[in-house]
This record gives sequence, structure tokens and C-alpha cells, in this order.
Amino acid sequence: MTEVPALEVRNLSITFDQRRGPLPAIRDVSFAIARGEILGVVGESGAGKSLTGSALIGLLQAPGRISQGQILLAGERIDDLPKDAQRRLRGKRIGAIFQDPLTSLDPLMTVGDQLTETIRTHLPLGRAEAKARALSLLAEVGIADPANRFGQYPHQFSGGMRQRIVIALAIAAEPDVIIADEPTTALDVSIQAQILALLRRLAKERGTAIMLVTHDMGVIAEIADRVAVMYAGRVVEIGPVEQVVHAARHPYTAGLMSLIPSIRHRAERLPQISGAMPRLGHWPGGCSFHPRCPHAGPRCTSEVPAFTPVGAARVACHLSDGGTTLSPTE
Ligand code: SF4
Repeated sequence: MTEVPALEVRNLSITFDQRRGPLPAIRDVSFAIARGEILGVVGESGAGKSLTGSALIGLLQAPGRISQGQILLAGERIDDLPKDAQRRLRGKRIGAIFQDPLTSLDPLMTVGDQLTETIRTHLPLGRAEAKARALSLLAEVGIADPANRFGQYPHQFSGGMRQRIVIALAIAAEPDVIIADEPTTALDVSIQAQILALLRRLAKERGTAIMLVTHDMGVIAEIADRVAVMYAGRVVEIGPVEQVVHAARHPYTAGLMSLIPSIRHRAERLPQISGAMPRLGHWPGGCSFHPRCPHAGPRCTSEVPAFTPVGAARVACHLSDGGTTLSPTE
């Protein structure tokens, strides 16, 4: 029997209701994340990655709304739950980590109190037990001397340490899933690597499923198991990170790959992506990537490409049934 995914998104569409009519922002997005797996979701700014993450955490703001599709947590549908039930799930079964740790931390509360409060909100523990758990979480995320640091305020920690505290908060109630939205973008490169290693360890040791949203293909190549590439509100390629990084089939993915420093020398024949992601509401018809695509043909302007299985990946491009490989061979 196949294991039920920790998180599954089925045909999700998000629409912004405008005076001129509904504006599609996420279009028919589907993916699943297994226990202990890290799915990287990558694409340029405006592709819809963070919006998808917000919908999963239940933080979608009006005028945005889910106009189609389902979100399932361990096989149970959660998108149709009442708002207060969604709020209860958030923090308990779905943890969140954002780019700026200060948005998740209260500057006026000690980190110990914040952790203890979060733990007691979600778990039936007394004050002493919650404190013991908070101390062990601080140690687990790599805060040295947790007993002393328990009573300190967020401003007494460095950026990397604050992000570790946010991670401790996110895992405080043993969530099934963590949505990490650009968790390392604001950090120095050396700290970035430590935080990524910490997320990887949490996924493997605790079995937490992680959706890692980033614009940085290098981050994905480093820690993700699978990757979903988004463009103009759609997933255009999804598959195991090894295959997508080293044998990208979608021209947009191939362009993103050429931006990873470690594979750049092997990527000389990959097309660079010219132009910019079109603005919401100005997405071209057919394949929305066609104005920027060096391979665009007549079908591309009128026909939305369906997903085609290619090895262990799925690719939405009219080229992919023709067998063209866009990445260099080693
Ligand atoms: Fe390029 Fe056409 Fe493929 Fe879109 S469908 S990525 S325009 S070749």
C-alpha cells in the first residue's frame, strides 16, 4: 500500500476578485510531499510560490481566494474547514518559517516565554514540562547554553540564531508539515548553509515534510529531494532534484539551472532567460513562457501544454514529447 502523503495539493487555483472580474493567480497546481521529504518550490518573483504557501498555511488574504482544488493534510481535506479550525491547524500540524525571523518573533517577550506559550497552546503540558521541552528544542536547533538564553529577548540574538528560534517555534508542536518561505534569503552565506543543514536534519530525523519556497536554485540543489518549478502561476516541471538539476527538460528550468554557480561551467549551452516574468493579469495565453522561450513554436502561443512524464519527472512543454534534452551531457 502506498503511504498517504503528509501534504497533497490537488488542482489548486487561486483567484483575485477584482472590479473588472476574477484574476487567476495560481492555476491548476498539483503536488504531494511525503513524510520526511523536502520539496523545493522555485521560480522568479511573481511566479506564485509564496501565494501557494500562504494558501497552505491558511493565510491567504482577501481579495485572494481558493477558486478550485483541494488541500489534504495526511489524507484529510483542510481547505474547506471553518477559519478557526484552520487557525488551530496552523502552528500545530503546519509550521511556518518566513524570510525575516522578526516577523515571527515578539520583540517584547523573551524567547523562552514565546516558546513555552506556543507549546502550551498546542500541547497539553504544564508550565514546567513546557519549559523543559522549550529548552530541549533550543538545544536541538543549535542554540548553545539554552538555559541562559531562555530569558533573553530576540534583539539579543544574531539573525541566524533568530531564525533557529523561529524553527524551534515551528517544530514546537511536532507538525506534519513545515512551509519555509525563503528561510535563508536574509542570512549570510555561511549561516545559510547551517540553517539548510538544520532543516534537512529535521526532515530526516523527525519525518517532517518540508515545502521550501525559494527563488534560488542553488538552495534547492543543496537540500531538496524533489523540486517543483513555477512560472506565471503554474507548475511547469516537477521531479527528483537530481533529474531536474542535471537534465532539465523545460526551457524555463534549463535557464534557471544555468544560474547555479556550481553547474554553470557545465551549462554553457543552456539558454539564459531573457526578459522578465509578466505581471499578474498580463500572463500570455498558451504557454505563458512563450515570449521568453528560445524554442517557442506556433502551438506555444495558443495551446497550454499538458504534463508529460519524462523519466521520474513531469514537464509541461510542447517540446517534451519530442525527446529534446536541454541540459548539457557530461
Ligand atoms: Fe517554450 Fe513552447 Fe515549451 Fe512553452 S511550450 S516552454 S514556449 S517550447
